[in-house]
Amino acid sequence: MSAIDSLPPLRDVIATHGLVARKSLGQNFLLDLNLTAKIARAAGNLEDADVLEVGPGPGGLTRGLLAEGARRVLAIEKDARCLPALAQIAEAYPGRLKVINADALDLKLSEHLNPPIKIVSNLPYNVGTELLTRWLDPPEWPPVWSSLTLMFQREVAERIVAQPGTKTYGRLSILAGWRSTAKIVMDLPPQAFTPAPKVRSAVVHIAALAEPRFPANPKALTSLVAKAFNQRRKMLRSSLKGLAPDIEDRLRAAGIDPTDRAETIDIERFCALSEVLET
Ligand code: SAM
Repeated sequence: MSAIDSLPPLRDVIATHGLVARKSLGQNFLLDLNLTAKIARAAGNLEDADVLEVGPGPGGLTRGLLAEGARRVLAIEKDARCLPALAQIAEAYPGRLKVINADALDLKLSEHLNPPIKIVSNLPYNVGTELLTRWLDPPEWPPVWSSLTLMFQREVAERIVAQPGTKTYGRLSILAGWRSTAKIVMDLPPQAFTPAPKVRSAVVHIAALAEPRFPANPKALTSLVAKAFNQRRKMLRSSLKGLAPDIEDRLRAAGIDPTDRAETIDIERFCALSEVLET
């Protein structure tokens, strides 16, 4: 029995079901249920929300979410070895946990969950950035989710929350900062996981804004930012020269000095430039 529920401790669960961690699936498990409950609390009140968890593994975070009162949890796990352990959790919380054995990259969120939807996951590092990019760049805004509470490698978390003028500022910072607020809410050492990864991890909490901070066409902005940061050390007049013959005038019209570099330009000016380039 554990501190937060009547299920067996995670070490026993892992031993019983032979869940030897697989590197290819990004498996670094959290075994401390007080810690997983704390991560669940970082997502705010869960009682009125459906929660999507990608990669429940042996179910440490899943149990944290349910113990913290999540209305419903939908857990998507690629590794079929974890299903019996997850079925035990579903039994302990009748009607509140649904598990799908699938690749999260193939899932359409709105088909399975009712709003408000919160996404809370200790993401597998190999698909974490891809999933985040998809969630931050959906076909329509506001997105189907209201918040994302996600564990990343610390270096990725820093890129998400970075401010202009810093080494980590880039595409992810702009994508996250344009239509949401993002902050690091927890910092975890490698020893928090089994097996311990080489690097530190962090939990980022991202809350969707009702509207973008500045007007811009999402596709145009994404492609502009990708071009600008592809050669982040180059002056913008050079990295963006393929976009328009009069790129220097357009940069100035957006309030940007053509000799500036991408990493010094804030989101407002990227949006302004994207609009200027559309005319
Ligand atoms: N949530 C558990 C925890 O905190 O202990 C496990 C987290 S572990 C970092 C990532 C989990 O994601 C693993 O259980 C792995 O099998 C699963 N996974 C990896 N790739 C996946 C994918 N494409 N779709 C769904 N689950 C995936």
